[in-house]
Amino acid sequence: MHDFLEIWDQAMYLLTPAAVLVGILIYIYLKAKIASAKELKGKYDVTSEYSVRYLQATHIAFGIAIFFIVNTYNSEVVEKSVAWFFIRMFMGIALGTMHGYVAYLILKYYYPTRLNKKLNKFRYTPRVNPETGNKMRLLSEEEEDEYLDDKMQAEEAVFSVDYDVWIDEQSGAIKIEKYQGRLGVEQCDRCNLHTLKLEREEMVTVATDTQEGETIKHYKCTYCGRIRRKTMIIPKQQPGGGYAVSEAVSSVSQINIAKHVTMVKVEIYDSTGVMKDFEFQNLDEAQRFLKEYELSESNR
Ligand SMILES: [Zn+2]
Repeated sequence: MHDFLEIWDQAMYLLTPAAVLVGILIYIYLKAKIASAKELKGKYDVTSEYSVRYLQATHIAFGIAIFFIVNTYNSEVVEKSVAWFFIRMFMGIALGTMHGYVAYLILKYYYPTRLNKKLNKFRYTPRVNPETGNKMRLLSEEEEDEYLDDKMQAEEAVFSVDYDVWIDEQSGAIKIEKYQGRLGVEQCDRCNLHTLKLEREEMVTVATDTQEGETIKHYKCTYCGRIRRKTMIIPKQQPGGGYAVSEAVSSVSQINIAKHVTMVKVEIYDSTGVMKDFEFQNLDEAQRFLKEYELSESNR
């Protein structure tokens, strides 16, 4: 037992810094990936796609390091009984998992706000025209339409894609950047745009608490007019659920201050407590969004 524990301790003393190092390397790799991305738009894409995943991986590595270091604790006592060896190992698993889980919660609930700030910086820092060196200006939703083709406008209208148009006002050069929209909209299998919108839903059989229901969803592409039907099974009735977004829509529309509004911020909390927030340049946009949002949620 004594010899085994000695080897064990040595192994743990080597593995702990190794796991910490792996965690740090993952973090450095993420930072390097962001730093090496071309242009701010590239940094935006890398940050939004990889940040959460890589930070989670870093903390999993740290959690494993905690497991290793806990397994060197109080070896003199452990030597006296095999049971202590397993109790200690169990403690290591518990503490290591706890670290990973706390990191997961922070990344899920607290981190998105910070991440959004970073992303907004990448997205809204004035672009520079590489040919003239001039600072470009971001066009507003109303101004940008004349630079977007009808496909782009169709996607923007259903909030599946968001296009930013930057203009160099001296040379007239424009730069269009594509961002993920605020809503997930299905892709049309004919024109490939994300504009296949749910039009209406036909209930075939109503779900009860003993029987599944069936519904036919009718989709129509707002760009090419393609019509699709999908049959969906509704699970046996669940309590709760449902959104009261339409009430918000109507109360927003009663506010008669539209002229003075420069930014509308919409925060939506779902039943699991996850908050999503959306920003709009005017009330009209926000209202149209809420209607689309309600449709997409109630038909999920
Ligand atoms: Zn289509």
